[in-house]
Amino acid sequence: MRRRLAAGNWKMHGLATDLTEADALARAHPAPTVEVLLCPPATLISRMADVLARTPLSVGGQDCHAAASGAHTGDTSAAMLVDAGATHVILGHSERRADHGETSAQVAAKTAAAHDAGLVAVVCLGETEVERDAGQTLAVVSEQLRQSLPGSATAGNTVIAYEPVWAIGTGRTPTLEQIAEVHDHLRSLLPDHEMRLLYGGSVKPANAAEIFAITNVDGALVGGASLKAADFGEIIAALEAADGGTS
Ligand code: PEP
Repeated sequence: MRRRLAAGNWKMHGLATDLTEADALARAHPAPTVEVLLCPPATLISRMADVLARTPLSVGGQDCHAAASGAHTGDTSAAMLVDAGATHVILGHSERRADHGETSAQVAAKTAAAHDAGLVAVVCLGETEVERDAGQTLAVVSEQLRQSLPGSATAGNTVIAYEPVWAIGTGRTPTLEQIAEVHDHLRSLLPDHEMRLLYGGSVKPANAAEIFAITNVDGALVGGASLKAADFGEIIAALEAADGGTS
């Protein structure tokens, strides 16, 4: 049975004062029936880990370097994330692929480094709008999945997040049928039936329940709506309801 996961990606948002949102979330959800993860910017990982200590909520990074250490100014190793209190790391987010030219091969190397350090990798993939309009969605995500996962990937150390690039931060989402089509396809390709498969892209309190009702959607990677405890809390509650639990 795959444990559902609500993962929040704060992106480059958040100062120490915003840790009140993490604290409020933990207080409002002291015993969630689903897994809950918050990924703040690197500067807040350590302090958020302190805030969420002795709660069931986990903390993750948003990227790591493929090397264990070395002359890589400005980068963060997987072991450093662990040292700061992270248990997870988002890798291959489309904003990193676009802003930093990350290739799927580099994502695979980073994912292997994350595994070596004991982190769970949340590996992101998804098509652009041009690719969807050209009917290439399934081919694109299949190839990204094949190239982005190292041989070390298991259901225990890897989560896949399907995030259509055109749906991230835009308020637009695929139809439920389109999400189902991609998730069914990716599920058939995953190396392990227990590996979790999240949907990401403009998940909000208003659409979470219908997305979580789709077969093979094991949760969500949430950007904007994870910044506020009230919004992310509603999404967690929708995931718990879909899971048959209580909020
Ligand atoms: C994301 O950052 O991965 C994301 C899905 O963002 P948003 O929920 O804001 O679209």
